[in-house]
Amino acid sequence: MKPSKKIDRIPPYLFVEIDKKIDEAKAKGIDVISLGVGDPDTPTFPNIVKAMHEAIDDPSTHNYPPYQGTKEFRQACAGWMNKRFGVNLDPNTEILAMIGSKEGIAHVFMAFIDEGDYTLVPDPAYPVYRNATYLAGGIPYFMPIGPENNYLPDLDKIPEEIAQKAKLMFLNYPNNPTGAVANLDYFKKVLDFAKKYNILICHDQAYCEMTYDSYVAPSFLQIEGAKDYCLEFFSHSKTYNMTGWRIAWAAGGEKPMNALKVIKNNIDSGAFKAVQKAGIIALETPQEEIDKLNNMYKKRRDLVTKGLREMGWEFEDPVATFYLWLPVPKDMTSGDFAGIMLEKAAVVVPPGTGYGPMGEGFFRIALTVDEERLKEVLQRMKNAGISFDMSKEAV
Ligand SMILES: *Cc1c(COP(=O)(O)O)cnc(C)c1O
Repeated sequence: MKPSKKIDRIPPYLFVEIDKKIDEAKAKGIDVISLGVGDPDTPTFPNIVKAMHEAIDDPSTHNYPPYQGTKEFRQACAGWMNKRFGVNLDPNTEILAMIGSKEGIAHVFMAFIDEGDYTLVPDPAYPVYRNATYLAGGIPYFMPIGPENNYLPDLDKIPEEIAQKAKLMFLNYPNNPTGAVANLDYFKKVLDFAKKYNILICHDQAYCEMTYDSYVAPSFLQIEGAKDYCLEFFSHSKTYNMTGWRIAWAAGGEKPMNALKVIKNNIDSGAFKAVQKAGIIALETPQEEIDKLNNMYKKRRDLVTKGLREMGWEFEDPVATFYLWLPVPKDMTSGDFAGIMLEKAAVVVPPGTGYGPMGEGFFRIALTVDEERLKEVLQRMKNAGISFDMSKEAV
């Protein structure tokens, strides 16, 4: 039996491959430190866990939830959007609950892409944008992002004929894997582009609350007239340490939302109502609690960036996300460097190429282990003679 051609186009999921390598090393008794997957290492906030305990004891949460999410959940999301960004949305038509944002992000491609349609996808990027394009039968056009364009796709470099055939563009700021941010001026240019070519802008907001050094991330929907051209994907996962709970929401114009609803109505039956109840409590988390979590990541960031600078790396500190996106030593590929880190230091760092070919020359660090372990990473690198100026032959 042969799976679909669509499946053939999907490269192995990066972290499945990395997990295999970790398991192999662990089987040999090696103490591997993984700076791989971006999954928070501290527990969900206790107020949310408590709300879940209560919600699960309430039998009214036990049956099928409404397809678009409970009214209370949608109202809480709309309220949060207003309080956080000053954006007004109708909870009945412009908010949609999702079973984690990855689910909605993948499904939006099915809602807008026909066989042979183009999508505009950054390179490097979260792999789902590319792979969900393939699963929908579309063709991704990769918009390179790198230090030369401040990690913002250069809209003028998108060929006219591709722009004409494109249906959807994905953006993600604060950005995974690069930690880059975008401002409203850039988003305005993107909106003009979307209007000119009638393209839906999908903006992945997984990290909008994970910011440092007084940086505040904007919403695409803050721009006048953005709603009709935009769906924004918010997630509880990273902000409230809720990756395992699978709760998120989309915000944006009624028309694009209706298309996404048709796909979802026919594929899933919504997020567990108890999780939605806990999700409402999450949205009420006092800012001090979120600041505390961000401070923890900031301290980790400062520890690692100081250590890496001592080893010869030069870079600017990211003001958002728990990622560091760093160049590999000169005469190496990303794959060489990731291999050296695993073999010589028993540290897992994903190669930049895992996020697209333009990731060549970079690697990513996720600050999702504690300071003691991060100190151990730096020590192991020093012991192994790893530095930015090292040559491949030296190790
Ligand atoms: C973690 C992550 C997500 C997935 O979040 P879920 O809501 O847990 O599915 C989406 N986009 C990016 C860029 C991420 O890093």
